[in-house]
Amino acid sequence: MGVIGSAVIGRAQLLAQLQEPREWDVVVIGGGATGLGIALDAASRGFRTALIEARDFASGTSSRSTKLIHGGVRYLAQGNLKLVREALYERALLLSNAPTLVRPLKFIVPCYRPFEREVMRIGLGIYDALAGKQGIGDTHWLSRSETIEQLPGVRRDGLQGGVAYWDAQFDDARLAIALMRTAVRLGAVAINYVEADRIEKTGGRVSAIFAHDVQTDERFELRAKVIFNATGVWADEMRRRADHSAAALIATSRGSHIVLPATFLPGSAGMMIPRTGDGRVLFAIPWHDRVMVGTTDVAANGASWEPQASDDEVEFILDTARGYLQSALSTRDVVATFAGLRPLFSPRAAHASKATKKISREHAIVIEHANLVTVIGGKWTTYRKMACDALDQAALLGLLPARPCTTAAMTLDVDDQIEATCRAAESSALARRDDDQLVKFVELAARHEQALTAGDVIARRLRVESLDRAAAARITPLVSAALAVQSIDA
Ligand SMILES: Cc1cc2nc3c(=O)[nH]c(=O)nc-3n(C[C@H](O)[C@H](O)[C@H](O)COP(=O)(O)OP(=O)(O)OC[C@H]3O[C@@H](n4cnc5c(N)ncnc54)[C@H](O)[C@@H]3O)c2cc1C
Repeated sequence: MGVIGSAVIGRAQLLAQLQEPREWDVVVIGGGATGLGIALDAASRGFRTALIEARDFASGTSSRSTKLIHGGVRYLAQGNLKLVREALYERALLLSNAPTLVRPLKFIVPCYRPFEREVMRIGLGIYDALAGKQGIGDTHWLSRSETIEQLPGVRRDGLQGGVAYWDAQFDDARLAIALMRTAVRLGAVAINYVEADRIEKTGGRVSAIFAHDVQTDERFELRAKVIFNATGVWADEMRRRADHSAAALIATSRGSHIVLPATFLPGSAGMMIPRTGDGRVLFAIPWHDRVMVGTTDVAANGASWEPQASDDEVEFILDTARGYLQSALSTRDVVATFAGLRPLFSPRAAHASKATKKISREHAIVIEHANLVTVIGGKWTTYRKMACDALDQAALLGLLPARPCTTAAMTLDVDDQIEATCRAAESSALARRDDDQLVKFVELAARHEQALTAGDVIARRLRVESLDRAAAARITPLVSAALAVQSIDA
């Protein structure tokens, strides 16, 4: 193996730093997009920062998204132009700051009804115009034959033509690792498998967070000027550890995807279905030599570590896709499914609570017990803006000194050699060949990316679990054995 440019991240050193009896400026609970964004922002402003994640980085909602960095066509339809413009600005920053993990993707909306093409062309033209100079490519008409040529899997019967527009696709779990790596390089202690258990309050403010190492049960007591609660759908549960009577701020909804063989939508363009039976937008997107189709939006019963797509959701997605795909599609074609939980912020509940809060349409920053700052909602695309707002808000309340946010022009740490090995390992795992590539990658993931379990490698450092469940089961023993060798070496 060649020399890897980026540093090894040693768990023992991170744990030792967590054990030091000092006051942190910032402690972040939760290592998804929100928490990692906050830790990176805080470290880059020069604050002494620690982040603890109960499981693996991005193992919650942040590895289960539709994997789009986008302005949100949905918000456009709602007339929320400010929100769309803000997200399109963030899209441009991400394309520039993490070009290996975020890439432009052409989408085509196939049109079957009279005037559908005209309406879509106007709407998506506005979407494009809102990006201004940061637009990725032109929105334009496609004739029937151009639509079929560029979207070969599309249903032909009744097809009138299409509209093409551009957005961006990314690898959510790998972007989370890039955020973690960048935060650590900037001096943060960001560690997985350390769970926050208890919140201690003294004189009306949070004086300590008690946590433990999930693997060894080593105990930690963390003191900080400000504590950011970035636990997504677990945010209310965490708030109740400080005040067991705290009113709920969030409701939970599940979004599921199915994964199909690439033959259902060959080519490089994604497909956008503008209106499903329940009034949502559905995407069919090329993803690692497969096609992922989603998402749904159904009420879920609270938080869950491993949410699953229900049979009804799979059937709903299949049914909608059948209207737009040329090939016959059955449940047997589904090679994998995955589901994520949205923390839906309820402003009414927040207004009713006594907390100080800054609420935008998309995300909310709620301050309780003087220095417990809960950050919820938003989307992956705007994680940087949310972090920036959260740190600014903490400064405004005098919890931290005011220092400017510098993340807009910050290149994220993505190691091209690790990414290349990752791609090679994944291709060979999916094609059931060459286990050497996989072993090589496991070593890198353990040393440079804090992968501790087979699931960390298979579900998030690689994406095999959400691409092909059978392939994931096949490589699990090998990955576990390769990780065991790494822990002996360490
Ligand atoms: C189906 C779906 C599709 C989506 N698609 C897109 C998309 O295409 N583009 C986009 O921009 N956005 C998308 N989103 C939104 C985006 O994924 C979320 O906004 C984002 O991932 C939320 O991140 P988070 O960090 O707030 O939550 P999470 O990722 O859930 O992170 C919270 C973390 O807190 C940890 N935690 C919980 N309790 C504790 C504890 N006691 N101690 C320590 N850690 C703890 C959890 O393990 C978890 O890792 C989608 C969301 C869903 C549900």
